[in-house]
Amino acid sequence: MVEMYFIYAYCLLALSDVFVYGDRTIGAIIDDASFVTEAVFHLGIQAASDDEENPFVANVIKTSPGDLIEAENAVCTLIESNVLGILGPSSGGTLKHVQVTADYLEIPQIISEPVSSQNRDWSAVNLYPHHMAFSQVFADIIEMKGWNEFTIIYEGAEFLPFLDNILNIEDIDADEHILISVIQLPDGEDFRSQLKTIKSSGSVNYLVSCSLKVLPLFLEQAQQVGIMSDDHSYIITNPDFQTLDIDPYKHGGSNITGIRFFDPELEDIKNFVTSINDKVKELSENQIETAIDENGLYFNIALVYDAIILYTSAIKSMGLSEGANITCDDEESWNFGSSIVNHLRTMETDGLTGPIKFDEDGFRSDFEIDVLEVMSHGLEKIGAWSLEDGFVEMRKIIPVVEEDATDSMKGKHFIILTALSAPYGMLKESSKKLEGNDRYEGFGIEIIEELAKMNEFNYTFEIQEDGVYGSLDSKTQKWNGMMEKIIDGRADFAITDLTITSARQKAVDFTSPFMNLGITILYKKPTKQPPDLFSFISPFSYQVWGWLAGAYVGVSVLLFILGRLAPEEWQNPYPCIAEPETLDNQFTLANSFWFTLGSVLTQGSEIAPIAVSTRMAGSMWWFFTLIMVSSYTANLAAFLTVESKFYAIKSVSDLANNPYDITYGAKKGGATFGFFKESDNLLYQKMYLYMESHPELMTQTNDIGLERVKSDKEKYAFLMESTSIEYMVERNCDVAQVGGLLDSKGYGIAMKKNSPYRQPMSESILQLQEQGKITRMKDKWWKEKRGGGACADDDASSGDAQPLVLANVGGVFIVLVAGSGLAVICAFIEMIFDVWMISRKEKVPFLEELKAELLFILSFSGDVKPVRHRESSGSKGSKESKEKEREIDEELPGDEDDRLDPAPTPHSERSSHSRHTSHSRRQSNAVQMAKMRKFT
Ligand code: GLU
Repeated sequence: MVEMYFIYAYCLLALSDVFVYGDRTIGAIIDDASFVTEAVFHLGIQAASDDEENPFVANVIKTSPGDLIEAENAVCTLIESNVLGILGPSSGGTLKHVQVTADYLEIPQIISEPVSSQNRDWSAVNLYPHHMAFSQVFADIIEMKGWNEFTIIYEGAEFLPFLDNILNIEDIDADEHILISVIQLPDGEDFRSQLKTIKSSGSVNYLVSCSLKVLPLFLEQAQQVGIMSDDHSYIITNPDFQTLDIDPYKHGGSNITGIRFFDPELEDIKNFVTSINDKVKELSENQIETAIDENGLYFNIALVYDAIILYTSAIKSMGLSEGANITCDDEESWNFGSSIVNHLRTMETDGLTGPIKFDEDGFRSDFEIDVLEVMSHGLEKIGAWSLEDGFVEMRKIIPVVEEDATDSMKGKHFIILTALSAPYGMLKESSKKLEGNDRYEGFGIEIIEELAKMNEFNYTFEIQEDGVYGSLDSKTQKWNGMMEKIIDGRADFAITDLTITSARQKAVDFTSPFMNLGITILYKKPTKQPPDLFSFISPFSYQVWGWLAGAYVGVSVLLFILGRLAPEEWQNPYPCIAEPETLDNQFTLANSFWFTLGSVLTQGSEIAPIAVSTRMAGSMWWFFTLIMVSSYTANLAAFLTVESKFYAIKSVSDLANNPYDITYGAKKGGATFGFFKESDNLLYQKMYLYMESHPELMTQTNDIGLERVKSDKEKYAFLMESTSIEYMVERNCDVAQVGGLLDSKGYGIAMKKNSPYRQPMSESILQLQEQGKITRMKDKWWKEKRGGGACADDDASSGDAQPLVLANVGGVFIVLVAGSGLAVICAFIEMIFDVWMISRKEKVPFLEELKAELLFILSFSGDVKPVRHRESSGSKGSKESKEKEREIDEELPGDEDDRLDPAPTPHSERSSHSRHTSHSRRQSNAVQMAKMRKFT
């Protein structure tokens, strides 16, 4: 090395004598349409020419990217213009092509690309860090992180040399080997299937080596696939990591580490960016206002500037005043080309990309970089790396700021487990190929969308393919299905028709329920029943028939009693006789029954109540019969028009007792089966034992249960949750819910025990409920989407006629009872008034008269009542009439028995009531009227 420096010093001395001042041209082949490289080249040349007597001249030729011929012509044109060196081009193929020519003629080529196959002898000036040192940076970071497994994900073969030292990482110790997997990203823009493979391998640490074009796509898809949660770590090798928009990943929970060669916040860098923008504006003739923003300075652009400055410094210090005087056709090479390159490699300077120096092999191995980490507040420097010190951590201890509950979810990414169970989670029906979360829709999916909006989190849905929600194996004490994944942390949340049960609540946390439901039965719709001969009984329930019969007997007896009580009802059987000896009463027991029956059957009878009380009782009964008969008629019409149905089962007890051999089951391992298992109700225990001993009746999903219920091959009832039944009966018109709910519970979103997200999620669910959004969503997914409402017409016509029960007609019974009560009161008043009148008229004590009257009434002996007369009080007229009566009786042969008694004394009148026989009572009014006519 010392020898080399000596030779360069000698050469420099020699050159300073030889050269005279001429044009110091630096050529550039620019194939970048953005003007940025050109601007930086000009800025470099300008900076190098400041205070120089012999300034540098820039000669720029623009070519199309990748065009070899144009590149070839450009390099030859530049060489012919006596350039001291050539910058570019930047695109892979042309760069190598130009490199061959430049190398042959020994014209130094300034490049800023990661050329791993860089040869020490080439005339290339490349400040890009050497691949071995570069890979060592990441090997050291991995060591610092203590990864014992990781996956290297790289874009193409050109990235592999930059991973050399990573692949050679040594095992942590003899016992613990580091497991390294390597996977290449495919061409194109879709890496999801590779990412899924990585995910299913269980690897959680990733080293990503790819271009800046692919990196954002990669990170976005990693998030979609669900490998960007708290458990995942990334190291990004791209030196332009800091130019990436990290906002979507800031709160995702995954640890993302990267590097940078310069801090965009430094004043020098800011000024440099401003100068580039000004220059681009000038070169583009004000077409481009801002070529790069303050964070957008790429590493290779800064390298171009550093390389121009370093290269021109080498020329300056060598005193070269003009370039090569050769052409592409010359066989000779330029003598000074490799001298400049070798001289440059002895120099050290501080560039934009940090200290620049070369190792003994002429490579930039010794550089300094910052190591960054993505934090919720942005990128943060967590350490630095240099060849000498390796990785030195300098993490600031950031005081933990108590996050508010909603912020705790902000920007984070979650894996949300769901099942394909309609309508909670379903595959979208679309002619287009859908990706990621777009593939799913449903009630549960929409709830998550709303919650994500409210709490500003990102999510990826993952499907529980086997549809198992989770039950505890009592032997192994292990959960399966979705529950297992939540407990193991393989998913952050689970949403579907996942029931909150006490057993599950012990193992995971649930949000407040977003839906309430209960267990009930799904069975075929009831079949039509053949018409019933005795369907005329149906309009009234048996209870109402019983009450009706009771009312009939009661009112009939009441009328009989009222008839006896009410004086008005005791009528003169011979109206032409002014003072009859006896009075007749039409309300015999038989007549009373006949009267009430006549009105119930709406036929009437010739009996007409006379007294206020009997009329009152009678009219109450008519009112009662009016209502009852109209109700009966109306309901009979309904019974005759509506088809009667045959219900094989009406409740779980019918199912358990099973008179029609109906088999039944529930979802295997589901909450419904769990309910029967845990219940201490004897009926439910019996059903549990039945299901337990018939595993063939248990189904994997609710849909299979539905198919079995619909099948004509078996009589199968499915025990299921009411909300799911509601959904199915909206679309399957041949099945229906049978019976009420056996219990009451809810569906919730499950998450790991003691999760900090339970509170914000529960709060958001309550908000959605209060805003009525959940009800609207339910209506949408149950009644509108996917064939909802198909059975609405069916249901409308299938209304069942129900017999009227006491509750329907109870009021009219009350009116009847009240009316009857009033009638009784009336009857007593009438009777007492009459007794009082008689007692006054006949001059007997009131109480004596009342007692006598009551004794007569309560004796219930016949419908003839003798009229009491005092001898003294009899008038002439009355005597005459009695005489006439006697004559009539005498004239009527064979009627001795029916003859009226002579007027008794008041005492004897009261003690001996009518001796009329029943025969005489049966005499018709017609016969009596005949007697009257004869008499007159
Ligand atoms: N929702 C139930 C569960 O969470 C599944 C369906 C059922 O058992 O009826 O397990």
